[in-house]
Amino acid sequence: MAQGNLSGQQVLILPEGSNRVIGRDAQRTNIAVAYAVANAVRTTLGPKGMDKMLVSELGDIVITNDGATILEEMNVEHPAAKIMVEIAKTQDKEVGDGTTTAAVLAGEMLKKAGELLDQDIHASSIVNGYKKAATKSVEILEEISYPVKLEDVKTLEAIAAVSMGSKTVGVGDSKDFLATLVVKAVRQVAEKKDGKVVVDQDFIKVEKKEGGSIKDTQLINGVLVDKEIVHSGMPKKIEKAKIALIDCALEIEKTETDAKIEITSPDQMTAFLDQEEKMLKEMADKVAKSGATVIFCQKGIDDMAQHFLSKKGIAAVRRVKKSDMEKLAKATGATVATSLDDLKEKDLGFAGNVEEKKIAGEQMVFVENCKDPKSVTLFVRAGTSHVVSEGERAIKDGIGAVSSAIELGRYVTGGGSVEVELAQRLRKYATEISGREQLAIEAFADALETIPRTLAESAGMDAIDTLVALRSRHKKDDGRSMGVNIYEGKIADMKELGVIEPVKVKKQAISSASEAAEMLLRIDDMISSRGKAPSMPPGGMGGMGGGMEE
Ligand code: ADP
Ligand code: MG
Repeated sequence: MAQGNLSGQQVLILPEGSNRVIGRDAQRTNIAVAYAVANAVRTTLGPKGMDKMLVSELGDIVITNDGATILEEMNVEHPAAKIMVEIAKTQDKEVGDGTTTAAVLAGEMLKKAGELLDQDIHASSIVNGYKKAATKSVEILEEISYPVKLEDVKTLEAIAAVSMGSKTVGVGDSKDFLATLVVKAVRQVAEKKDGKVVVDQDFIKVEKKEGGSIKDTQLINGVLVDKEIVHSGMPKKIEKAKIALIDCALEIEKTETDAKIEITSPDQMTAFLDQEEKMLKEMADKVAKSGATVIFCQKGIDDMAQHFLSKKGIAAVRRVKKSDMEKLAKATGATVATSLDDLKEKDLGFAGNVEEKKIAGEQMVFVENCKDPKSVTLFVRAGTSHVVSEGERAIKDGIGAVSSAIELGRYVTGGGSVEVELAQRLRKYATEISGREQLAIEAFADALETIPRTLAESAGMDAIDTLVALRSRHKKDDGRSMGVNIYEGKIADMKELGVIEPVKVKKQAISSASEAAEMLLRIDDMISSRGKAPSMPPGGMGGMGGGMEE
């Protein structure tokens, strides 16, 4: 219950049962919670990071190394923890990779801020210092990045392989194979607009089915529709298909209101049914007249209409998702017709072949070999559902990374190299800033180095020794790309090793981590009207990633 005290008189401003945490206590709790969340994902960082097994209330199991997935599945309660989950989600949405990095950085920035608060440095000085450091970091990243173009296939493949490499469950030894597919897919849908290359990731469909192995994963130059061809009499394989996309039902519309049709004689009944049949036949005729050999309908197709279509040798798929219709349009070049009267030959799309295949006991329709399709499908296969799901997450990371690299056209070196370089340049920059903000910028620099430290730890190396070695190499002119070679347990040139990442992933991770830290630091009063104290969540989270100690 919160109270105000004005000229000696007690005033109640919050309802009974509300809870309030003020000042340093609020900051302390938020920092502790955010750090605990960051710690829960910390050990998954990098290709040598561990995986987590998450079990839902219903007993569903997810095995993953993906920061965003772990945080989402953790079902956290505390508002500060929710903000951490938000960072990972935003990162995932904006760039599709770097979620663990963002969460780990935010946790570390807050922990360092906590130390500054303990030295009586005011939160607003820390916030200002962090803001300056984040802006400067983005500038430095631009300076120390390298260019990459749509045509640099090898570089893009390295970026894809690195971004997928940490998901060992789904990817295993196949990361180079998958990287090739991912780069092909992204380059296929990339379009040049006003001199810039844009990639609409929505048009790379990732479909998954268990069965086979990860090496059976394929790139389909078109769309894989998880539906069947509606009628057994229709062809199941159509070559040089002319495709119609229809957004209206091939059914007789049922009246909305309760209309009553009075039928008084058997003749009338027959006439009525004949009339319906005639209308449905006309629909099939209209489709046939357009020249279509395959139709995808967003709505339903009446049994009788199916029959007429099959008699004309036209294959049909019904109740296709709107998103799939859009993808089909992009892939085949068809225009979606909203009525059968509008359906003209010029609206039809083309696919080298359309085929219904049985995959893991279910029928799926492959629309393949489209001409320069601006929408493609990556069909992920693997032995078990857990592996397929992690494979799918890996591929999505890969798509995100390659798209970001193409769009911004720049990449940086990974393995902690870029963080060490940033930290070094930030410390230099800090000397130009006076007062307490300087300390905050230095703390920010220290926080960045948690990435190489964590990578070193994951490889069984001594974190401090590694960091010291890296710092001294980075002082030299040729040391900019020195990072952690986690496979050989030593420091190495990441550019030579091909451990490279899009600059966008790093920019976004650093700025969103810093924003979240700033936001949590500014809070000095937490009022909860749910009657529950905003405190640390119970045991669970600490158990996942270790406690507050380093
Ligand atoms: P995130 O969710 O942040 O992308 P990851 O688990 O994918 O987390 O790990 C990314 C980190 O691992 C990056 O700092 C990246 O540079 C590093 N990394 C990836 N592959 C390698 C490698 N082969 N050697 C060293 N570091 C690597
Ligand atoms: Mg990653």
